[in-house]
Amino acid sequence: MNQTEAKQKVEELREQLNRYNYEYHVQDNPSVSDYEYDMKMRELVDLEEQFPDLVTADSPSQRVGGPPLDAFQKVQHNVPMLSLGNAFNEEELRDFDRRARGGVDEDIQYVCELKIDGLAVSLTYEDGLFVRGATRGDGTTGEDITKNLRTIRNIPLRLKEAESLEVRGEAYMPKRSFIKLNEEKEANGEEPFANPRNAAAGSLRQLDPKIAAKRNLDIFLYGVGEWQTSELGSHSERLEKMEQLGLKTNPEWQKCDDIDAVIDYVNGWVERRMDLDYEIDGIVIKVDRLDQQEALGFTAKSPRWAIAYKFPAEEAITKLKDIELSVGRTGAVTPTALLDPVKVAGTTVQRASLHNEDLIREKDIRIGDTVVIKKAGDIIPEVVRVLTEERTGEEKEYYMPEHCPECGSELVRLEEEVALRCINPNCPAQLREGLIHFVSRNAMNIDGLGEKVIAQLFKENLVATIADLYKLAREELLKLERMGEKSVDNLLNAIHASKENSLERLLFGLGIRYVGSKAAKTLAEAFGTMDNLQKASYEDLLAINEIGDKMADSIYRYFEEEKVEALISELKELGLNMEYKGRRKSEQASDSPFTGKTIVLTGKMESFTRSEAKQNVEDLGGKITGSVSKNTDLLIAGEDAGSKLDKARELGVEIWDEEKFKQALNA
Ligand code: NAD
Repeated sequence: MNQTEAKQKVEELREQLNRYNYEYHVQDNPSVSDYEYDMKMRELVDLEEQFPDLVTADSPSQRVGGPPLDAFQKVQHNVPMLSLGNAFNEEELRDFDRRARGGVDEDIQYVCELKIDGLAVSLTYEDGLFVRGATRGDGTTGEDITKNLRTIRNIPLRLKEAESLEVRGEAYMPKRSFIKLNEEKEANGEEPFANPRNAAAGSLRQLDPKIAAKRNLDIFLYGVGEWQTSELGSHSERLEKMEQLGLKTNPEWQKCDDIDAVIDYVNGWVERRMDLDYEIDGIVIKVDRLDQQEALGFTAKSPRWAIAYKFPAEEAITKLKDIELSVGRTGAVTPTALLDPVKVAGTTVQRASLHNEDLIREKDIRIGDTVVIKKAGDIIPEVVRVLTEERTGEEKEYYMPEHCPECGSELVRLEEEVALRCINPNCPAQLREGLIHFVSRNAMNIDGLGEKVIAQLFKENLVATIADLYKLAREELLKLERMGEKSVDNLLNAIHASKENSLERLLFGLGIRYVGSKAAKTLAEAFGTMDNLQKASYEDLLAINEIGDKMADSIYRYFEEEKVEALISELKELGLNMEYKGRRKSEQASDSPFTGKTIVLTGKMESFTRSEAKQNVEDLGGKITGSVSKNTDLLIAGEDAGSKLDKARELGVEIWDEEKFKQALNA
């Protein structure tokens, strides 16, 4: 790129970033994700580094936040409220450490803190009394929002000692309050907030404090602006003292002796952050000693003694190459986007769900578009939006077909549903998907029967229904591709063993509409046997806690069908267990290896997501907490467990691996 091209690109990026800043910081209503913003900012910073002549004092790369709103009184910050430099990976954290160590003579200790995703505020106390609260604004001038901040219960109006100081922290909205607020907004026909950060910022920057008072906001304080009377020499001592004064700090902060310990801390939070009831968007790493902080100083925009590690983006930008249709076990025909492979949050993504045609229209998704895709937790990736500015005119609109791509029968749109459905009960795709579901991990859990083998069994006409699986003959299986004697024996053993499964697995495997694995367990526990369940009336079903009318209706109608009755008798004859083998809830709660215990989960497990593991423990009377302490009774550690495992060893806490956990669940 030459100077002229760079200049043009830099101007374009500045214009976009200034607009995004205004939408985000002033209007609390961003039009792009933080990821898109961060990528554009990176591009600008890289160009300014390559072409230093182009740097100007008013470039967004040199400025903090946005201007204060005129509706509020202005507050001057004696000590500027700055932004933070970013690190997006381990290498960049190590660079930060090298730079910091290069700037001071002695070893550095760091303090790691959660980066709360809210709104930065400053609180001023005079002789222990809360006198003023302000936003960060543009870093030197903020908005006076004292009245709004007074409504946050965790901001003390009087400190426990008559100190005079100015502290800083993040006001935020807990996830639960955010969901509730958006539900209310939607019910009133108002535009929902994009995320908890904007909801918190939007609530605090209201002229009427009654609004903020209703919003259930909270705060964590993480630093000091001015504190002239204090003689404390480190950030960690200040945090401890702040807590003693009654200023709420986040309990998860940790002192780290070197960058390796920092990296462990960071990695430990990548997954665990999902368990928090507030959002964090990274980890802030700060040099602990104040004299070292002073020696390192500041750039125009941020301190050199701190950095924000941002979690791997759950979003990425890629090309949508084509749209493929799949028919699920309930006959719903779902469009899936085929993408140019792209890395998102550590894994390569090539497909994303488009859900249904309405969504394709609403987002105006066309084949050939450049799209932003998102992967959150363990959910399937989806297309967030189209970058229409990248269109060339070659993109093609997409319409759903009128006939089932598998069996050719006409597709219908049932009342109140957005999905198109194939209602041919013999559609091979539905039968195949039904079988894949039947053998899956949370259902009958038959090892060795993956999608490929099932597809082959279908193709060779060896199975058409669930019952056929239990009639498979050794010689037939040996004829299949890539099936040697050993794998056939293993497969037959696994199929045979599945006959002994407790009733809930079979119930879930049958694929009754609306009956997920949790409901299947509830049903199995409540009715005990398949016979009882088959005989249950609609009212009997409805009488069970957790079973609503939609599910009761679906279950009742399912068992009414003759075909179902025939299938179940056949399965019975084939020797499948039809009884609940687990313990009843009342027994479980008082008599399980988890009852009354405080348990910490860490690392990756093969058979459970974090939330499944948590649910299992809680169902059996255990309590899950986030960090290991002397009150922890048990640590359950999956693969790649990090600092929590070390800590548990250090404290002599009992440690289980996944295998032991599984055994205890089945006990
Ligand atoms: P930042 O959010 O990256 O980091 C600085 C802020 O972190 C501080 O001001 C403070 O509010 C906060 N913070 C939270 N916990 C903290 C802790 N424990 N210690 C210290 N600080 C803590 O920087 P920024 O300048 O506030 O905002 C820039 C970021 O905002 C961008 O990287 C982007 O993610 C987002 N943004 C998004 C858009 C958009 O349109 N989507 C626009 C502008 C900015």
